[in-house]
Amino acid sequence: MQMTSEQGAALRHLLHSIKDKSAFYAQKFAGVDLDKIKTQGDFEQLPFTDKNDLRKAYPLGLAAVPQEEIVRIHSSSGTTGTPVIIPYTAKDVSDWALQFARCYEYAGITKEDRIQITPGYGLWTAGIGFQAGAERLGAMAIPMGPGNTAKQLQFLVDMQSTVLCATSSYALLIAEAIAEHGLHDQIALRKGVIGSERWGKRMRERIADELGVELYDIYGLTEIYGPGIGINCQKQEAMHIWADFCYCEVINPATGEIVPDGESGELVITTLQKEGAPLIRYRTHDLTRYVPGPCPCGSPHPRFERLIGRSDDMVKVHGVNIFPAHIEEALSATSGASSEYQVMIDHLNGKDIMTVFFETDAPEGERDHIERELHGIVKAKLNLGIVAKAVAIGDLPRSEKKTQRIFDNRY
Ligand code: ZN
Repeated sequence: MQMTSEQGAALRHLLHSIKDKSAFYAQKFAGVDLDKIKTQGDFEQLPFTDKNDLRKAYPLGLAAVPQEEIVRIHSSSGTTGTPVIIPYTAKDVSDWALQFARCYEYAGITKEDRIQITPGYGLWTAGIGFQAGAERLGAMAIPMGPGNTAKQLQFLVDMQSTVLCATSSYALLIAEAIAEHGLHDQIALRKGVIGSERWGKRMRERIADELGVELYDIYGLTEIYGPGIGINCQKQEAMHIWADFCYCEVINPATGEIVPDGESGELVITTLQKEGAPLIRYRTHDLTRYVPGPCPCGSPHPRFERLIGRSDDMVKVHGVNIFPAHIEEALSATSGASSEYQVMIDHLNGKDIMTVFFETDAPEGERDHIERELHGIVKAKLNLGIVAKAVAIGDLPRSEKKTQRIFDNRY
């Protein structure tokens, strides 16, 4: 993937002053003459920044501006350990809204739309990002926040919301509630903007069908502004990430080497315009693939395949590396299997056993052949024997936030 001349100039500008501005990078790049970094090849020699580095800078060690220029902080929703605090300047907040508004535009959303926002508001970057983008676009924001599904339905009907912003799990829950209450004819939804969770094809089709809407995946992470740094375009094939704000690389997560264009690997992002906490070669742990060539939509921004997983979501069973995306693909190829699933990995009698629970609308006496089919597909694709267990629709937990899919009980 070629660095553009604009990106090269922005990077040289960033590197020239970063040590003066950021104590964090002064320490990280001690001994490196950053003014000698001139080419893409030079840049690729710089060390990565990882989430653990950011944790060590808690609370405000990442700040690259004087304190009076910081207008807001956000914190990443780390499940364990010290949180990461990201400071934002007024320009950062404004740039983020601009990027998010661009996402809405790519999804064909306009100021005529009414955007019902169900991601949470607070320290993390979800709700407020959707909100600021809607306001920048000039659309009507309806800041619901998560939960209270009865009220969500009431507002979908009474406010005639045209866009639903949600995690994929919550969008599914709302879609099921709309069906259950027979509200289809009373709602006006036309688009769904789904964020902060990787999700499978079958689940996407179910939500799109049940809600009767076109779906868009929004991408982002708190460390790099938040959601809104990229979205899939109306050609639906892959997501664009904004080249004027992010310089992207795809690396082999094990070796740190750049992979050839088009090969899967871990996305690494450098911020080109961020003031409060610029990040250089930040490892996202999101696995994707650069899609070479121009997009039929005409966008100049580079394309990446929908996320296939996180490098830390991978589990190894019988020597096979397994990502949630593998299970989702297998389920979507199994006739009669629905999108919801849960994987349990246990160690019994000296052997690893992987059980895949999945939902089906087939009645209890008719599930055996679906289980056999899933078993066969996983065996053929991954050369791995699993225990497939069908359960009824609604038996597996739904979540308003992220749904944990894989439970590794071996350790
Ligand atoms: Zn496109």
